[in-house]
Amino acid sequence: MKVKQHIKKELRFTIRDFNTLFPDDNACLEHLKEQRFPGGVTHCDTCEQERKHYRVAGRPAYACAHCGKMISPMEGTIFHKSSTPLKTWFYAMYLMSSTRCGISAKQIQRETGVTYKTAWRMFRQIRSLLSDGDLQLEGPTVEVDESYFGGVRKGHRGRPMVGDRQKTPVVGIVQRGGMVVAKVVPNVGKKQLLGTIRKHVLPGAVIYTDELGIYKSIPKMTGRNGRPANYKHFAVKHRTHYVKNGHIHTQAVEGLWSLIKRGIGGTTETYSSRVFWRELVSGWRSSSFQ
Ligand SMILES: [Zn+2]
Repeated sequence: MKVKQHIKKELRFTIRDFNTLFPDDNACLEHLKEQRFPGGVTHCDTCEQERKHYRVAGRPAYACAHCGKMISPMEGTIFHKSSTPLKTWFYAMYLMSSTRCGISAKQIQRETGVTYKTAWRMFRQIRSLLSDGDLQLEGPTVEVDESYFGGVRKGHRGRPMVGDRQKTPVVGIVQRGGMVVAKVVPNVGKKQLLGTIRKHVLPGAVIYTDELGIYKSIPKMTGRNGRPANYKHFAVKHRTHYVKNGHIHTQAVEGLWSLIKRGIGGTTETYSSRVFWRELVSGWRSSSFQ
């Protein structure tokens, strides 16, 4: 049966969008710079303060406008010290983030023209980025939620139910205005949920969740180092009462679910959600990706 796809226009991210946004290596570098140093302003180690940085001609680097000290936006990312052009990297990321069933290293080789060895290395790096690895979200405010994927019921109707064998539990952590971790877990028990939070959320963060009882233990949690994590926890009372509760909501993580689910339901058209893409690329600024 052919399923009709309803992706809102503003959420589509087609190959044409990709090529318009990233026509060449320079555009990719410029994008990376904007992600990491918005407006070209960043800390200069030599000047010991925030300085405007300018592009160095002929090099993938930017220099402090005051003292000339150079920095590279690729440092601390998966692109650092890679001889593969940035545009090829970006294209491979586009392919991996926009295909419904995932894409193999072999397909990356075919689509980009790099050697299989290079394609495989890129594939692994990008996958580690997509699947979070050891990423710790840097933001002070995160939303955590659990959801289920797959588990289509008889007749392909209705939501997956408890006990459906095929459904896959996923924990999502969204840093407001920033990175995303979406992780498949064996179950959504206390150990898994809190363990995932401990792994990805920095101590001292403010955490928003739904009313699930397990989350009540968040304020008492310890961090990776065994010391108190000092998380501040807010539970959303009624998911629909966003306005009344002001900052206490989980809209960001719910947005992530809806984007992923729409992506999974996609059929023929190659697209990626513009928003999801933005979330993904914003993750490149983190040095945790190395
Ligand atoms: Zn300087």
